[in-house]
Amino acid sequence: MAYEFYEILGVSRDVSAEELKRAYRKKAMEVHPDRHGGDKEKETLFKEVNEAYATLSDPQKRAHYDRFGTSDMGGGFGQGGFHTDMDFSDIFESFFGGGFQGGGSRRRSTGVEGEDIEIRVKLDFAEALSGLKKVVSYNRKAVCTECAGTGAKKGTEPKECTQCHGAGQVRRRTQTIFGVMEQTGICDKCHGTGKIIMDKCTTCHGERRESIKIEKEIDIPAGIDDGMTIKVRGEGNDGIGSGAGDLYLSFSIPDSIDGLTREDTNLFYTIEIDPVEAVLGVKKTLKLPVLGERTLEIKAGTQHGEVLKFKGDGVKHISKDQKGDLFITVHIRIPTHLTKKERELYHEIASEKKIEVAEDGILSKLF
Ligand SMILES: [Zn+2]
Ligand SMILES: [Zn+2]
Repeated sequence: MAYEFYEILGVSRDVSAEELKRAYRKKAMEVHPDRHGGDKEKETLFKEVNEAYATLSDPQKRAHYDRFGTSDMGGGFGQGGFHTDMDFSDIFESFFGGGFQGGGSRRRSTGVEGEDIEIRVKLDFAEALSGLKKVVSYNRKAVCTECAGTGAKKGTEPKECTQCHGAGQVRRRTQTIFGVMEQTGICDKCHGTGKIIMDKCTTCHGERRESIKIEKEIDIPAGIDDGMTIKVRGEGNDGIGSGAGDLYLSFSIPDSIDGLTREDTNLFYTIEIDPVEAVLGVKKTLKLPVLGERTLEIKAGTQHGEVLKFKGDGVKHISKDQKGDLFITVHIRIPTHLTKKERELYHEIASEKKIEVAEDGILSKLF
C-alpha cells in the first residue's frame, strides 16, 4: 500500500503541485465512471485517484504521507475522516465546473422510497400449531390515484423549483482543512423533489400518496412461533419513482394453553398420578389441550419426575419437514385424605414392611 498514491496518479515523488493537478485531471477523466457506464472497477479506480489526489494536493497531508506512507494521520483524520464520507463527484465537479455529462442531475432525487410496514399479528396457541389463512388489515400509503403521484391538482403541473432549478439539490461551499469543499445537500425549498406544487391535489393534499386501508389474506405456515416475522414483499408503502416497501408481520403467540407448554417445536405437559398407580403401573387415557387424547402407559415402579416421550408428536418445524416431540412429566401426588378402608390398607402395608407408625391418624396431619 505504501506510497502507491504516486503510482495511482502516474507521477514521480517529486512532482510539483501544478504537475500533480494536471496528472489528476487526466487520470480522473480517464476513469470517470460516467464515461464507462457505471463500470464498478472504474468506479473503484476513480475513488482511488481522488483519494490519492486529496492527500497529495494538501501539503500537510502530503508531508505526512511521504513520511509514513499512509494518509491516516490519526485523531480526526481516521479512515472515514475524509475519503469515505465524501462524494467524489463533488470534487470532480468543482474541478470541471460540473460540465461533465451526468454530473449533479444524475443524482437528482424526485422519488419517494416506499417504506416498510410492520404490523403485529396475534394468534392463539392452536392457530400457531396448525397454521391458517388469516385476513390482516392495515393502512398503507398508495400512490394517489387522483394526481398519479404528482401531488398537483388535476389539470395543473408542478413548477420547477426556483432555488435548485429542478435539481433537487443545492451546493454549499465549506472551508475545510483541505481547502474549500463543495458539498451537495437536499434543497430545502422543494425537499429534494425539484418541483414546487402551486395547486395541491385535493385528494392527497400534495402528499403524493394517500393512506388506504388494506385487507389481505396471509398464508401463515404451521409452526409459526412467538417473535417470528414473515416478510411479504412489496406490500409496504408505495414508492414514487422507486419500489414499494415490504410488509413485515411479526407474530405474538402465547407459549402455553391449559398446562400444555411450547418450547420451539417441543411440547411439555405434566400429569399427576396416585402413588398406587406409580407402584402398580397403570394405563391412562389423557385428554390434552389442542392435541386431544393420548394413551399413557405408566409402568410399575415409575418414579416422581419421570418423563415420557412421544416422538414426533410436537409442533411442525416452520420450514423443515420435521416435527418436535411431546414430553409428559409424571408427578406423584401423595393423597392428603384417605378413606377409613384406605387407611387400614396403608397400615397393613406398614406392618408388612415393619414400619412403626407413630400414631394412628398422624398420616393426615403430616401433610
Ligand atoms: Zn428545490
Ligand atoms: Zn393526489
